[in-house]
Amino acid sequence: MIIGNEIPPEIDVEWFPIDKYNLVINRLKEQGITVHTSDLISVEDMLLIHTEKYLSGFLAQGGDKRINLNDMYGGMNLSRTAIEIIRHMVGGTVLGMHTALETGWAVNIGGGFHHATASQASGFCHINDIAIAIMKARQEGIKKAMIIDCDVHYGDGNDIIFGEDENVFNLSVHEFGPNESGDTYENLPIQSGSGNYVYLESLASILDEIFERFTPELILYQAGVDAFERDMLGGLSLTIDGMKERDRIVFTEAFEREIPIVATFGGGYSEDINDLAELHTNTCLMGIEINKEETVS
Ligand SMILES: [Zn+2]
Repeated sequence: MIIGNEIPPEIDVEWFPIDKYNLVINRLKEQGITVHTSDLISVEDMLLIHTEKYLSGFLAQGGDKRINLNDMYGGMNLSRTAIEIIRHMVGGTVLGMHTALETGWAVNIGGGFHHATASQASGFCHINDIAIAIMKARQEGIKKAMIIDCDVHYGDGNDIIFGEDENVFNLSVHEFGPNESGDTYENLPIQSGSGNYVYLESLASILDEIFERFTPELILYQAGVDAFERDMLGGLSLTIDGMKERDRIVFTEAFEREIPIVATFGGGYSEDINDLAELHTNTCLMGIEINKEETVS
């Protein structure tokens, strides 16, 4: 199931390509694909991860309609509408988790806020939807979860939140970040300019390796598209087909192992917003393609 809420037209964000979400929704609808809306995440649910002090500051904002560039660094200057958009997206990842537990998979058009910690926003991430979804899954009896984070930026927020937690495996395959591993984490840097082959081989082999060590009952996939060759921040040089193959590898791992998976969008900073629309739409379509095979077999 695909989940997403239309972004209100008046919202305007410096630097972050927020229009990509509506473009993806439109592309999917043009293909006759239903996009299900999600509710706002509740304060109670946000408190599963975030501190009361941080949350009250987050919720107390509500200035003008513009989101300041400072938000890239976690500066608090969000509009009321922006706060609602974020809460809807986090609600989407939680709905995606519930859907995945029932049907095997979901893709949330948004979320993937992997930099946010309990008490700090960072890199466009204010509320950590992935972490909240894992905590909500625990209420459903899910013990072991795995994060597969393919954004080019290191999933540091999740590492900080779950670093000591033996029931959450955090895999971050990134261009910018540490190279280290432990019992329940693996930080795998890929060299700039690597291109499709090196990236996809590295991803496939690390997945094989970590599934030997850890058997999750739920996968949270951060499907950031900043590994694309025309990305302005990332330099991993994957082509459109390489990005599709990356999504195929991750969805197929989950499908073949019968592990529910929820994908979130994460980052993506191509100059041409149509690149982002295409890449993120492809992630949704790959989710559908891989999981349709389930109903056939
Ligand atoms: Zn990123």
